[in-house]
Amino acid sequence: MQREAFFDLLERTPSALWVVTSNQRLARSIAHEFDIRQVKRSLGVWETPQVLPFGAFVAKLYDAAQHDPDLTGLCAPLTPAQERALWESVVADGELAVLSFTATANLASNAWRLAHQWDIASRVRRYTAGADTRAFVAWATEYQRRVDAIGAVDPAQLPDIVRGLICSGAVSVPPMIVLAGFDEATAQQQQLIDALIARGTSCERFEPKQHAAPALRAQCHDEHDENFRMADWVAARLGENSNARIGVVVPDLQMRRRSLASALDATLTPDRLLAPSGVRPYTISLGGSLAEIPLVAFSLRAVRVVVGDVSFDEVSALVRSPYLAGADAERDLRDRLDADLRRRCERVVSFDGLLDAVERSARDCRIDAPRLLHCLHSLRDWRRTETAVSRRPSEWSGAIARVLRSITSYGAGDRALDSAEFQSLARWQELLAEFAGLDRVVGRLAAAGALAQLERLARETIFQPEGGTPAVQVLGILEANSLDFDHLWIMGLTADAWPPPARPHALLPIELQRAAEMPGASAAIELKRARQLLQRWMAAAPEVVISHAGHEGDRALASSPLIAALDIYSPVPHAPRLIDALGASTLTSDLDSVAPQWISSALRGGATVLKDQAACPFRAFAIHRLNARAIDAAHDGLDHSERGQLVHDVLAQFWRAMPAPTRDALAATSFEQRRELLNAAARGALARLGRRRSAPTAALAALETARLVRIVEHWLQYELKHRSDFRVVAVEEARTVQIGPLAFTGRPDRIDETSDGARVVIDYKTGGPVSGAWLDQRPDEPQLPLYLAALEPDAKAIAFARVRAGDFCLSGLAATPELLPGQNRNWEKSFPDWQALVDHWSVVLDRLATAFADGDAAVNPKRRPQTCRYCNLPTLCRINERGATIDVDDGVAMARDD
Ligand code: SF4
Repeated sequence: MQREAFFDLLERTPSALWVVTSNQRLARSIAHEFDIRQVKRSLGVWETPQVLPFGAFVAKLYDAAQHDPDLTGLCAPLTPAQERALWESVVADGELAVLSFTATANLASNAWRLAHQWDIASRVRRYTAGADTRAFVAWATEYQRRVDAIGAVDPAQLPDIVRGLICSGAVSVPPMIVLAGFDEATAQQQQLIDALIARGTSCERFEPKQHAAPALRAQCHDEHDENFRMADWVAARLGENSNARIGVVVPDLQMRRRSLASALDATLTPDRLLAPSGVRPYTISLGGSLAEIPLVAFSLRAVRVVVGDVSFDEVSALVRSPYLAGADAERDLRDRLDADLRRRCERVVSFDGLLDAVERSARDCRIDAPRLLHCLHSLRDWRRTETAVSRRPSEWSGAIARVLRSITSYGAGDRALDSAEFQSLARWQELLAEFAGLDRVVGRLAAAGALAQLERLARETIFQPEGGTPAVQVLGILEANSLDFDHLWIMGLTADAWPPPARPHALLPIELQRAAEMPGASAAIELKRARQLLQRWMAAAPEVVISHAGHEGDRALASSPLIAALDIYSPVPHAPRLIDALGASTLTSDLDSVAPQWISSALRGGATVLKDQAACPFRAFAIHRLNARAIDAAHDGLDHSERGQLVHDVLAQFWRAMPAPTRDALAATSFEQRRELLNAAARGALARLGRRRSAPTAALAALETARLVRIVEHWLQYELKHRSDFRVVAVEEARTVQIGPLAFTGRPDRIDETSDGARVVIDYKTGGPVSGAWLDQRPDEPQLPLYLAALEPDAKAIAFARVRAGDFCLSGLAATPELLPGQNRNWEKSFPDWQALVDHWSVVLDRLATAFADGDAAVNPKRRPQTCRYCNLPTLCRINERGATIDVDDGVAMARDD
């Protein structure tokens, strides 16, 4: 039946005529076109025609039979979730050891469905030579037994059951049906259609419009180029006619979904970056996994966090989720809390650990997010009351719905969902109902088992929110069947991809598959299908372009031989994208590297301010005035910075605990006495660290204590061996440092005094190599010169004390050689005496302090790329946009902060 005659008939007899389509999209497309025709006829209301995909048509006939009072014993069919769960239980309970129950169950269920669709199910049992087929037969037998045992109907057999009802006259049949898109009808579909005809149903076939214009071939450089050429073409056709019906057919759509969306977004909605919620003028079929839809991902995550340990990324996503009640009101607090939790938590977090860390953040850092805490308490209460016992799926479904209502922003009424979110919520609720329906096939489940089932269901459910009927449809190969377009682009037809290679089903006998001409059964079948599909596509629009990539990485690709003879397509001009618009506009350059004058008196950061100012003025400005920091990453155990802090802490505690903090007293202490002092200092240091982040486990604490005691003991031995008489006169003593216009608190690690009264300022180093660039105008490590010039101007030496396993030494500068082992005397080449050096430092540091206070914020790293290598600010300073990136490996060892 031709298109116009079909719609005329549908308009005249909408209730008497049933339209049965091969897929959902075709049903939707016919219904949509019917509606448009009624609007054009100026009708205000009209009768909705019966346009159903084949599965829904069969279900409708069966449903009518079930509700017929004269028919008894018709059981309810299994839902897809029940069917999947039953197959999984069959495979799991079987004798065969398999790597994945879920994947094997999917494979077996798919084989079962195909065997029925192509009418080979009854013959498969005879082919027992292959181990795979034998395994399938065993699973299928057990599956059938379980379906019968629970009094259900297997969905794969439903068309056969309905056919039986039709043949026996038990069910009434529609007077007329029109079949649309059944060019590849399965044996099962054909038998049912034949049964309808035998019962007197008048059966017509919908003939899509045939266009005769020759198709063109576009050879693109690679897949990326192909995506963008297609997008340019779509933009050009939409530009000519915004109502044009444009189709894009992609054989491997699932794989290319993201890259296609990205090309179409960049070309059709270049302002999407600025207005991400705008409506897209295209739709991509198939959809993604329901589990990845943000609202559903949040719901699953909330349950996951409660039921077992999760990665910190999950915790972070939960805390920052807009779906957690109070998200808008506490957004800033939750961002700060997330940053704080990264310092407190390990990479895997328990729910109790999370709650403890959040409460400690509130207590110690005053990051108080009461609504978030309330949500966590609700989850904790739910865990106590609901998750301790095994329950039936329906009970879990209700319990999960209840707890989500109590913690979600939409449940609390403080967030209105948009259309896509609303559809996602509806689908999630349907999923919970499907999960509840598992009562029929699954027994009681523990919390982890219930969550695993629910997650699997969500993962395997394909979902895409509906957004009207946009002009551009991106489709898989079978969905374009019988659709009519104004313009059609078919992608990815390389020689490798088209015709598709034969892929017979692994669990079904190949002889049966070939005999039934099942898709994928042989290369000849695939070639025939590929030719037929191509022919249909080429007649589906007045303009058809078929494209393929010429390269995949370094590999050259040829076009499919089925399209090699087509004329070459002339590309349309590039559609303007956002980047082009930016490039075309006149850019003005306004370099402003001067920040406002520093007026605050208190400055945090101590000597690091001058260190950063010397390294790069912008770094100092960003860190100490804008508070720009890289976000921490949760880590297990202790990181290098925490280990360094512990060494500092143990050394400080040790010297404070010494009755007389001198070299002589140190030499006089026995090994056991030192051990005792060091053990106590290490335990104290770990306890203090445990108050800032999750406390180390007992085993880790014992290991770390032993490490700290060993390292510090070695360091003390070094001091005894290499240094003459000294007294420790200050340990991490907070002092106010005034340098130029800046005042801040300095805390030298240690100040010693020798027997003749000379003072030595010492800084412990536990990290990587230390730069000794102290003498130039931008010193790498200005803290020691600073303490010397501003706090201890009479001191005669400065030194870094390297305290690292297997690496113990002092390195620094001293007025006289005997003051310090390992000192560098280079300074004497540039300065006549020690005082001249101290004066030089005063001038240099004063200049740095003044530059910081005056707002010098130039992006001016001291040495590039070395200075930038361990800096976290390149996205803020945009240094990489000024030339070479900072990732050049020049082999230069860099200093790291401890
Ligand atoms: S990345 Fe380099 S240029 Fe940028 S702020 Fe850091 S040190 Fe300065």
